[in-house]
Amino acid sequence: MAASRYARQMSVAVKPDVRCVVCGELATVALPPPSPTIARGPDPEDADYQLTGVLPDVALCATHEEGVLDGTIALGCCDAESCRRFGDSTQLSPCGEPFVKLPVKRNGYRKS
Ligand SMILES: [Zn+2]
Ligand SMILES: [Zn+2]
Repeated sequence: MAASRYARQMSVAVKPDVRCVVCGELATVALPPPSPTIARGPDPEDADYQLTGVLPDVALCATHEEGVLDGTIALGCCDAESCRRFGDSTQLSPCGEPFVKLPVKRNGYRKS
């Protein structure tokens, strides 16, 4: 089994209609994102503020949970305004832009 201690501690059950970000099948777990934020920068409408994009949990089916946890699937994220979703970083996102590969923390999904 590829389920690490991390997965057992951090995975949460997802709602019945949530889909796996990789394959679109019904998701069984949601993992916290490998990096909690993306796209930090100044607010285009008010330069006094900084905006930080916060990533939601990553919904996955059992098959792809295993792939992400054992490192065979590299998660990416598309930050296009109309898209903003996770996916397999080797694929194009639905808007046509490639997913940006998310940094994986040293002690992220994989226990050393
Ligand atoms: Zn899947
Ligand atoms: Zn996209």
